Amino acid sequence: MGRKKRTTEEILLDYIEQAGPLSTPCWVTPYRINEDGYVLVKRPDKTIKGHRFFYENLVGPIPEDRELDHLCRVRHCVNPGHCEPVTHSVNVFRGHQARGLKTHCRKGHPLTGDKVYIRKNRPNQRDCKICHTTNNRILRKKQRTS
Ligand SMILES: [Zn+2]
Ligand SMILES: [Zn+2]
Repeated sequence: MGRKKRTTEEILLDYIEQAGPLSTPCWVTPYRINEDGYVLVKRPDKTIKGHRFFYENLVGPIPEDRELDHLCRVRHCVNPGHCEPVTHSVNVFRGHQARGLKTHCRKGHPLTGDKVYIRKNRPNQRDCKICHTTNNRILRKKQRTS
C-alpha cells in the first residue's frame, strides 16, 4: 500500500470514542491489546501501557508510588480523564469493589491493603485484621478466666 510506517503515537491517536460508564466517552483503539487487557505503547527503552502513556503526555508525570487506576474499569481505555493516580492499596480496593467483593467487614472496617487478614488454610477468603485481632484477644481472655 506504500503507506509510511506510523509511529505508535500516531496509531494510538486513531482511538475511537465509545460509550462507557462515565459521562465522557472511553477512548479505545482498534489495535492489539495484551492478555491483561491493556493497550501497549512501544518506546525505544521500554514498553508502557497506553493509558499511562496518554496520561503522562496529556496530564503530567505519574508519581512513582502511584498506579493509574481506570475509573471507567475499561482497561484498554486511554482517556486520561478516566484515569487517576492512586496508591496500590486503593487500586486493589477499587478492583475488589468493582468485582463485587466485600470491601468492609461486618463491623464496617475497610478491607484494604494490610487491613486484610488472610488465613493460611483459606487463601481466597479475606478477613478483617482488626476484628481478627480483637476476637483473638477476647478468646485469650476467656481462656485465661475460665
Ligand atoms: Zn474510559
Ligand atoms: Zn472488622
